[in-house]
Amino acid sequence: MDKNNDQDKNNQENHENKQSESDVDLIPGGRIYQYFTKQRHRMLTPNLNRMAMLIIVLALLLTISKSIAIGTGQSIYCLECRSCLAVGDDCPADLQPSELVIAARTGDYKNFIKDGGLECITCGECVEYCIVDIDIASVIGTMQDRTMDAIKAGRIPNNLLVEALEEDRIGAEYVEEVEEYLLEQGVDVK
Ligand code: SF4
Ligand code: SF4
Repeated sequence: MDKNNDQDKNNQENHENKQSESDVDLIPGGRIYQYFTKQRHRMLTPNLNRMAMLIIVLALLLTISKSIAIGTGQSIYCLECRSCLAVGDDCPADLQPSELVIAARTGDYKNFIKDGGLECITCGECVEYCIVDIDIASVIGTMQDRTMDAIKAGRIPNNLLVEALEEDRIGAEYVEEVEEYLLEQGVDVK
């Protein structure tokens, strides 16, 4: 008799389980969620999680490697907060260091020149204003070297260089080199 009762109980539980699997959608879109959580589809969840993690890791690696490969080391930590603009009149070249660090991060030589990056004398006055301790002067110094390499490799349009010379956005240290390069290209800048 007890055995029969147990059997009935089991049958009833099985029936309830089956019924709960085919429950109606109580919230709109709920079935989509249920699809990934039902017992028979449960294996999909860890696989989807792994795929999502892989995509996130790949995106992070791409972002980081891009900054390291093209930009200059520490610029990767720049938060674009622009706190370093507080240097104000203490910057002897009247520059906006934040824009130069941001340009350095992506190896944006054109904007670096336009924003006066080649005018910076790497005095370091702005460094103390960086909230994440980036050595701004060092970042800009490295970027200046790379920008000069880019100029000599013909990767910067001549008209942009001529314009920068006319507007005194090339520092004294680099003027001669830039003029020489332009003369070699047949551009008379004298
Ligand atoms: S390091 Fe360059 S940007 Fe910073 S204060 Fe000196 S001249 Fe200005
Ligand atoms: S203060 Fe530092 S983190 Fe903020 S913009 Fe300037 S360099 Fe970037």
